[in-house]
Order: sequence, then C-alpha cells, then structure tokens
Amino acid sequence: MLDLTQCNVSEPIQQKLEAMFAQGRAPQALIIEGDEAKTEALAKQLAAALVCQSDQRRPCGVCAGCLKAYAGSHPDIYVAQGGLTPRSFKVEAIRAVRSDAYIRAQEGGCKVYLLLRAESMSTEAQNALLKILEEPPAQTVFILTCSIKNRLLQTVRSRAQSVTLEEVLSQNPEAVRIAKEMTTALLHTKELAILQAAAPLLKDKDLLKEVLAQLTLVFRDACVQREGGSVRLSSLPEQAAALCRAVPKARLLGLIQAVEEIQNALAFNGNMTILTTALCANLRTAAGR
Ligand SMILES: [Zn+2]
Repeated sequence: MLDLTQCNVSEPIQQKLEAMFAQGRAPQALIIEGDEAKTEALAKQLAAALVCQSDQRRPCGVCAGCLKAYAGSHPDIYVAQGGLTPRSFKVEAIRAVRSDAYIRAQEGGCKVYLLLRAESMSTEAQNALLKILEEPPAQTVFILTCSIKNRLLQTVRSRAQSVTLEEVLSQNPEAVRIAKEMTTALLHTKELAILQAAAPLLKDKDLLKEVLAQLTLVFRDACVQREGGSVRLSSLPEQAAALCRAVPKARLLGLIQAVEEIQNALAFNGNMTILTTALCANLRTAAGR
C-alpha cells in the first residue's frame, strides 16, 4: 500500500497513484507535472516506495531500501536532471540511462529512473527516451518531473501515465496582479498598456522572475484548456480562458518560449530595462498581436 502522507498531495491524486502502484504493479513511465519542489519530492517518495522492502505501507521509512533511497545512495535509483535552460537535458544523459537500464537491479527489486526537469530535454533526448519506452527493460520505472507537460513530445506523453499537482505557486499578489494586467493588455492589443503594466519590473529582478513564472503558468493553462484538459496551475483562470479562446495553440507555445528566452537572459544578468522591454515586444510578436 502506497503511503504518500509526507508529500501532501490531494486526495484524488493520492487515489490515482495508489491505483497505479497497487499490488506490486507500477507504470512503465509516469510524468508528474507541477511545481518543481513538489514534483521532485513526490518522485523521490515514489522511488522509495518502489525499492521499499516492507509488505505493509510503502515507503515504510525504516527498511534498508528506504534508508538508502532517502540518503540518495540506493544503487537502483538513478537520477538524471536537466538544467534551467531549454535543451540542457541532453541526449548523452539519456544514452547513459539507456545503457544502465538493461542491466539487472542490484538489489533484486525494480530499477527507478528519476528524470527531473524533463521539459528541458532536447528533442534528441526525448526521442532517445522514446526508444527506451518502446522497448522497455523489465522491472524498470521511469518517473519524469516537469513544470509543463505540453513541452514534452506527444509521442513521449502517450507512452506515460501522468498526474498534475494543482495549486503550485507560492503566490506573490503583486506578481499575480502584474501578470494579469500584462495578459489583459496582450489580449486587447494595447501596446502602451503592456509596457505600463510591466513598468514595476524595470527595477525589481525578483519581481520580474515571479511575473515570468506566472506568465508561463497562465499560458500553460490556456494551452491545456485548448486540449480539453482542466487542471489549472495559475491564479489567473479568466485570463487563461480568454487566451485559450483568442490565441491558437502554436502561438500559446510561442508565448511560453518567449517567456523562457527572457528567463534565460535573466540568468546571465541582462540589463533589466532591455529585458523588460524585450519581454513586452516578444509577447506581442508571439501572440501575433
Ligand atoms: Zn521501506
């Protein structure tokens, strides 16, 4: 029996995961979408459950398997992680996973591959992963975490089960307000209004980071809604719904990318005025407005 009390997941998600992992079963691949800290915590807890030696609640937290899992030293739990920039999760990392995955588990149980920040996988890396999922090694479970599942190739998603953790951001009301004004201005094609909405970002790098995170979530929600999904991550459901109606999916993905480019530039300490202005211009171009 799966015990995820430490992870603080909602009742429906707990039930969904219990069904997936019931009676020694496990999905070949699982995608956990949502906030980075929460998805990683859940992925690690599931990995511990998979190597736990208890026949009661898993992870029990006290057996040798659990202790090694928590210490990060279990030989059958393999962690590969992408960086913060797109395509930083490279094909070489997946090739290493592949050559490891066909070797038997050292402790006789199953092998678990935690692929963290999976959205930063290059297309080449995702295709290499797809090859493994098409010929899955026995008793091997792949757990991917990502902030936006739609960034993964459809072919990869179709080979995996998935859960989305809701309500993920620690909300800064000021960041939410600015993101709301910016998306509204974007929808109404008001060039000056979007620059005005973004004005507080010129001198506040942390606020800019939070607004970028908010924008990503609202664009992501709009994208998911377009595909008929319902789980939302942003605090701006009305803006997401309006974007979903007004902006085609390819452009929504373009908007996510436009935000990502600014996030990358920010990591290299770009000039704030230039970045904020570029953000507004790039969003308008991406939205085709
Ligand atoms: Zn245990």
